[in-house]
Amino acid sequence: MTRLDPSPETLRSLRARLEERLGERYVISEPDQLAPFLAEERGRYQGAAPFAIRPGTTEEVAVAVKLCAEAGVGIVPQGGNTGLVGGGIPLAGDGAILLSLQRLNRIRQVDPIDYSMTVEAGCILENVQQAAAEVDRLFPLSLGAEGSCQIGGNISTNAGGIHVLRYGNMRDLILGLEVVLPDGTLWDGLKVLRKDNTGYALKQLFAGAEGTLGIITAATLKLFARPREQVVAFIGVPNPAAAVELLARTRLASGEAVTAFEFIPAIALDFLAKHNPEIADPLSERHPWYVLTESSAGSSAAGLREAIETMLAEAFEDGLVLDATIAASEAQAVDFWKIREVMVEVQRHEGASIKHDISVPVSKMPVFLEQATKAVEDLVPGIRPFPFGHLGDGNVHFNLSQPPGADPKAYLARWEEVSRRVHEIAVGLGGSFSAEHGLGRMKVEENEHFKSAVEIELLRKLKTALDPQGIMNPGKVVRL
Ligand SMILES: Cc1cc2nc3c(=O)[nH]c(=O)nc-3n(C[C@H](O)[C@H](O)[C@H](O)COP(=O)(O)OP(=O)(O)OC[C@H]3O[C@@H](n4cnc5c(N)ncnc54)[C@H](O)[C@@H]3O)c2cc1C
Repeated sequence: MTRLDPSPETLRSLRARLEERLGERYVISEPDQLAPFLAEERGRYQGAAPFAIRPGTTEEVAVAVKLCAEAGVGIVPQGGNTGLVGGGIPLAGDGAILLSLQRLNRIRQVDPIDYSMTVEAGCILENVQQAAAEVDRLFPLSLGAEGSCQIGGNISTNAGGIHVLRYGNMRDLILGLEVVLPDGTLWDGLKVLRKDNTGYALKQLFAGAEGTLGIITAATLKLFARPREQVVAFIGVPNPAAAVELLARTRLASGEAVTAFEFIPAIALDFLAKHNPEIADPLSERHPWYVLTESSAGSSAAGLREAIETMLAEAFEDGLVLDATIAASEAQAVDFWKIREVMVEVQRHEGASIKHDISVPVSKMPVFLEQATKAVEDLVPGIRPFPFGHLGDGNVHFNLSQPPGADPKAYLARWEEVSRRVHEIAVGLGGSFSAEHGLGRMKVEENEHFKSAVEIELLRKLKTALDPQGIMNPGKVVRL
């Protein structure tokens, strides 16, 4: 496949045709209006595109993609632009324009009987959660960027968040999809079915594809009963092995009602005390590690709180728990959660951070943490590991704050070297080097390094079968 390299004349004529079909105001090229679409969350990449388009309907997306396909111009779909791996912006040399899904933001249907809802791809996640709550149902995907990320972006990155342990990740929450394919054809796969064994699960091809196989324009999502009781506990534990054992016990004691099981290191509480003293430590003494866990029941008569209390008391006796407190009110539960929510922010005060998003089988987490900590300390003396995150899913953000006083630029220059070692350890334990955020542009080479030749070849075959011209999000996920 040749690299996309549209001539100025091709771009001029494409632009004129798009203006005609979408309306001039929805084709953006003024530098100040274009700039926010080309900026990326972590500032690692600078986007570049001749213009961006903002279609308002599925039909307009299909028309725009068809025109781009005819012109041989690449398209980068963009949702809320909260992605962390440079997937949602075009880069210089990609030969691509940007297509924003912002205006496809209608909730088409909410059905409390089918426990389903159909929403357009540009709906903000928080609005989707709210629409479900209005009919007393739960849409369980919840993550830090929920006020600005879009459901289409969540599906395209197969987002996880804090409730994966109980409800699965985004891939598990879709019943059907509507997708514009790379030649502009519309595939209407908006089914509400829980069971449909009629061949390949096409919708799953687009979940996690990061916009490289087509543009998701709408989705039918699964809903759940809204919990009536939540038990939120903040627990000090002596080591990661105790946290893992506690997870197994909590699942058992609660009857699989654990909806979140988050891991927090002592260094996080130290940083909090220094930079966010208004957020109180719920326990009176510092402990080496912490767990924030939430269990949810459909009825307040379920005895969940008692079950968790009994389990914690036994775990204390067995030395797995050093201290623990259960939130006495919703307000206190919110306060406990604040500690988890500021994890990324609080690290910023301590200089540069090299970030990882790894997963391993839950039982392997203690050995991962031990090996990875030693490896990075050998590489960069004084480095400060700050591993936190979704222990219940075997997924931690193995973030590494710079040594105090080090030059941030020089430290960040070692990102690739340090990451390769951390990724080798995770993959060596049967894990993944990218548990949540996807590949985007950032981890394409890492994928080629760690995946087998068979797997990379399969990815390339799928990509070329659906997108023979290579116009959908060029340069991301898989290189041809
Ligand atoms: C503060 C914060 C906390 C986070 N916490 C978590 C977490 O706990 N768990 C987790 O899993 N993730 C987490 N993330 C990552 C998050 O899941 C993604 O940023 C989000 O899902 C992307 O949605 P978006 O609408 O912003 O997509 P964008 O960033 O705009 O795009 C992401 C990718 O999807 C593609 N895309 C977007 N929309 C479409 C579409 N309609 N059709 C086809 N392709 C499309 C883009 O081309 C790009 O490749 C977090 C991110 C932030 C900033």
